[in-house]
Amino acid sequence: MQKKKIVVLGGGISGYGSAILAKKKGFDVFLSDRGKIADRYKAKLEEWAVPYEEEQHTEERILAADEVIKSPGIPDKAPIVQQLREQGTPIISEMEFAARYMGKARCICITGSNGKTTTTSLIYKILCDAGYKVALGGNIGESFAYSVATGDYDWYVLELSSFQLDGMFRFRAHISVLMNITPDHLDRYDYCFQNYVDSKMRITQNQTSRDWFIYSGDDEVIWGEVSKRQMRVRQLPFGAKCQVVSGYGDGHVDGRKLTMEVGRQHLTLNTEKMQIKGLHNCYNAMAASLAALAAGISPAKIRRSIYAFSPVEHRLEPVRERDGVLWINDSKATNVDSVWYALESMTRPVVWIAGGTDKGNDYAPLMPFVRKKVHTLICMGLDNQKLLDSFSEVVPTVFSTSSLDEAMQAAKKAARKGDVVLLSPACASFDLFRSYEDRGRQFKAWVAEHC
Ligand code: ADP
Repeated sequence: MQKKKIVVLGGGISGYGSAILAKKKGFDVFLSDRGKIADRYKAKLEEWAVPYEEEQHTEERILAADEVIKSPGIPDKAPIVQQLREQGTPIISEMEFAARYMGKARCICITGSNGKTTTTSLIYKILCDAGYKVALGGNIGESFAYSVATGDYDWYVLELSSFQLDGMFRFRAHISVLMNITPDHLDRYDYCFQNYVDSKMRITQNQTSRDWFIYSGDDEVIWGEVSKRQMRVRQLPFGAKCQVVSGYGDGHVDGRKLTMEVGRQHLTLNTEKMQIKGLHNCYNAMAASLAALAAGISPAKIRRSIYAFSPVEHRLEPVRERDGVLWINDSKATNVDSVWYALESMTRPVVWIAGGTDKGNDYAPLMPFVRKKVHTLICMGLDNQKLLDSFSEVVPTVFSTSSLDEAMQAAKKAARKGDVVLLSPACASFDLFRSYEDRGRQFKAWVAEHC
């Protein structure tokens, strides 16, 4: 019998893992990337004798596939993807493929517009501290498929973007976590918010009454979706603004106290003892606690792990306090909603550095916080016009800069004793930087050198 032909599109972290798993499972595999493949991935592909090509797509070979595993970075509009769709070739994601071979291990999947990485990292830490063998995958950590190919795990904790969810069909999460849904990436969803919402809600697809669904009860969009759907999955809502009740359990905030309940298990957290701050991190801690309780971990262990958890790099990361000025790196705040939470959590006057590649932002929701807390805005980007138009009348002092050095010099001059300089851009980084990590590291390096 002829072996099933699998083509993997994209040779990054998701692609190389899928190709190796497919090879291990005995398929006829071919990996193709229109760009360059990093040397470390090439070395892995060679080690596993996976045939591949880079800087081209050999159509003949790709179109002959029985099934295609597409990396999340490749848009549906890419011509090769359209050709595959036209001829009816099934296109799936790394997650869909790898989940077929997970065996007895169980999956916790986290999605949302903001808070994914923090919540995923929290859950990962709690499960590891509790002594389980845990793999971290999806948008962070190792490739999920590579972990499935090479490891033997109790739990997979996966951070999923909407692009990954779009390629998932039969996949079923044992515990799904949906943090929030606010407009993002609309350029990839035909500028239709509902398309993006539908994509996020796929996190619950195929879940049964043996599974769990954890979500924000404060998020009206999610509420609307939950009430529209007939769901058999056990629901665990969490909220700070409204207390949402479910027969299975929930999480809520009362001043400094977070309370989470699942069945008979009861956990409280004191936010003063947590190293991660702000309302958004209350949501993240509640979501992670509910997931860990649903996974059967004891409240005492969860509490210990959460108190020991420090902010993930580039997420409201305090960099240095010098001459009474605190420098905070929130480079990962690439949309308006995450900046809303960053500004919400600020307790000192703010010099705010923002800007970059605008993804169709509407800055209106930020106005109350900006008015109250920001005395200087430093726009840092190649095109600052939209920020200037939005904030020139609102913020007493506004600078337009076009490099990190220029922006930082201006910030240093503007900051007074007792202030915070907050890099929380609300925009992608690709105009001046390679990535948000690059932007955050350059920010930190500048502070280390000049402050
Ligand atoms: P993601 O992986 O979804 O991008 P992160 O945990 O990396 O989320 O956080 C990204 C940014 O979003 C951070 O800069 C932070 O200020 C903000 N943020 C974190 N958690 C939340 C949340 N639950 N709701 C809204 N904003 C959040």
